[in-house]
Amino acid sequence: MLYKSTRGLIEKVSFQEVLFSGLAPDGGLYIPEFLPGPETFNVNSFRSKEYDEIAQIVLKPFIGNFFDDDQLCEITKKAYSKFKSKNRCELVKLSNYHMMLELFHGPTYAFKDFAMQMIAQMFQEALNKIKKSINIIVATSGDTGAAAVNAFSNLKNINLFVLYPNNRISEIQRRQMTTANASNIKIFSVDGTFDDCQLIVKKIFSDTNFSKNNSLTGVNSINWARIISQVVYYCYAASKIDSQKKIDFCIPTGNFGNIYAGFIAKKIGINIDKLIIATNLNDILHRTLLTGQYFKDKVYKTHSPSMDIQVSSNFERLLHDIYDNPKIVIKQMEKLNSEGFYKIESSDLNKLREDFLSGVATEEDTLLEISSVYKKLNLAICPHTAVGTFVSRKFLNKNKVMITLATAHPSKFIDSVQSAIGKMIAQPIEMKQLYSKTERVIHAPNEVNFYKNYINREI
Ligand SMILES: *Cc1c(COP(=O)(O)O)cnc(C)c1O
Repeated sequence: MLYKSTRGLIEKVSFQEVLFSGLAPDGGLYIPEFLPGPETFNVNSFRSKEYDEIAQIVLKPFIGNFFDDDQLCEITKKAYSKFKSKNRCELVKLSNYHMMLELFHGPTYAFKDFAMQMIAQMFQEALNKIKKSINIIVATSGDTGAAAVNAFSNLKNINLFVLYPNNRISEIQRRQMTTANASNIKIFSVDGTFDDCQLIVKKIFSDTNFSKNNSLTGVNSINWARIISQVVYYCYAASKIDSQKKIDFCIPTGNFGNIYAGFIAKKIGINIDKLIIATNLNDILHRTLLTGQYFKDKVYKTHSPSMDIQVSSNFERLLHDIYDNPKIVIKQMEKLNSEGFYKIESSDLNKLREDFLSGVATEEDTLLEISSVYKKLNLAICPHTAVGTFVSRKFLNKNKVMITLATAHPSKFIDSVQSAIGKMIAQPIEMKQLYSKTERVIHAPNEVNFYKNYINREI
């Protein structure tokens, strides 16, 4: 399998290149030159398989022969070894045709563990093979950073630099990062929003000399290897549903990585009808789907901080899908850069609406949803998940099955959840222990040169 860029200005590259790069050199995102379709995947055979087996089958065509079958088996085994559930994720019933897919049974209690643990093991295996060391730089709205810290702590030949927005993540998210006691990891608390952090990382990568000289590697959700690792749970969940039923998935969305993985699952033949974008007040994608105007607003601070994002990077991949013409993608991205918005014409918008629906939950909706689910089912859900279940209910259809993704564990956002339901909830022991550990963090400016200088000095 070879990969091209959404902006079309580069030669095709191998999976190895895609695995280790943040962005394509032309500023675009990598996508496979073609997608393996239903003829490659016997989706019905997934019904009798365990999660780890499905993972190997789904990943294989994308990886090609970069890893052989034994290596892929080993990588998968190690990647999921820290998960607390043998099924890796759990499907829970909310009502007759509404299910919830719990994706928070990994070591840092959010869905980010699925992809991050997987690429950490891919990196280890690959670096042994090519005898190299790398420096990973990642921007986080909280959960990606925590997942990366857990996955890369003390791995050989890997340094990790994490940038998070100061005061804009939950205390548990912060402590999961800052209490890691690993000499290969540095955590920066940035004076800015997640979008600022992401922009710093993009600017560092766009200095191709700097990024080559320092073997910089990106693990943000634009990394293709992360996307394909997330396709797996859509396949797994669908394999548990009656094959006669169409499935809608509702996905609490920020950077459009998780939902884009669902779109890939649909394209490779999984029985998915609609993918529903659920957003908090940072509703750029909902507005885009309604009006065709992709227009950056300010970033609102909400109870669901992992979705406090205005620039949804992975959306560029979807633009490539609807236009099938890199020149238009470039034009739109240039317009976004220079004027802060672009417009999607109505015929293209209608194409988008064939696969995607959208909805918003306000702050009040989110808290009420947490409390009403708790009252009805005696079940605490995290604020991101609540955005998802709230939006899902507008689209429930008794002829289909709705699966809402539960993207994080409620205890990770314990303050918001407890204030919503008005009582204390249990917190896993590992989370409690975080409060007594020493934090190590570098408070840093919203200024790209600071990080370049730091990296130059450190490595
Ligand atoms: C990252 C994250 C999201 C948003 O996922 P995207 O792939 O960025 O759209 C939603 N909920 C939680 C808990 C997250 O950590």
